[in-house]
Amino acid sequence: MFGAGNPDADVMFVGEGPGQQEDEQGLPFVGRSGQLLEQLLGEIALTRRDVYITNVVKCRPPKNRDPRPDEIDACKGYLRTQLQLIQPKVVVTLGNFSSKLLLRTDTGITRLRGTPYEWWGRYLVPTFHPAAALRGSARALADMREDFQTVQAIVEGKLQRPPPEPVEEPESEQLPDPEQLDLFSND
Ligand code: URA
Repeated sequence: MFGAGNPDADVMFVGEGPGQQEDEQGLPFVGRSGQLLEQLLGEIALTRRDVYITNVVKCRPPKNRDPRPDEIDACKGYLRTQLQLIQPKVVVTLGNFSSKLLLRTDTGITRLRGTPYEWWGRYLVPTFHPAAALRGSARALADMREDFQTVQAIVEGKLQRPPPEPVEEPESEQLPDPEQLDLFSND
């Protein structure tokens, strides 16, 4: 399951890895988590077709275990190229796994969320995985709503912070060598 959505999206969501339904249909977030994601998007006047949705790993890890470092490594180039092609204004990481990995931190999502980060010349907004809100955490849902407001403010250019510095263009004006854009490391 590679990813789906608008190739010109301002907002790119990054989950962990496809579940069984996603694997079978070849589309991201098609289950109950996807329904909640669509609801939250609707609350900021967006639909699934406006955004791009993908995952850190493109194949479903057996028995829903966390992706292993070698699996993350195998998929890293796809995510990097997706980012380079789509050039979103804001990346939204859904849940502990993708948030910690992309921000290269051991800090958990409960402490990480609530602020936009500067990340490779754009914003990164970490938020809970929709599954956390579906497990019945009203707090997680309220926090996700707040994070989506932040996303909307970024997209509309209304965030009360200066935009992040763009990543330095190489002198040749060519795209940076993808191998050098080491978005995250897993060692
Ligand atoms: N959970 C994820 O992290 N990604 C999906 O695509 C579906 C569920």
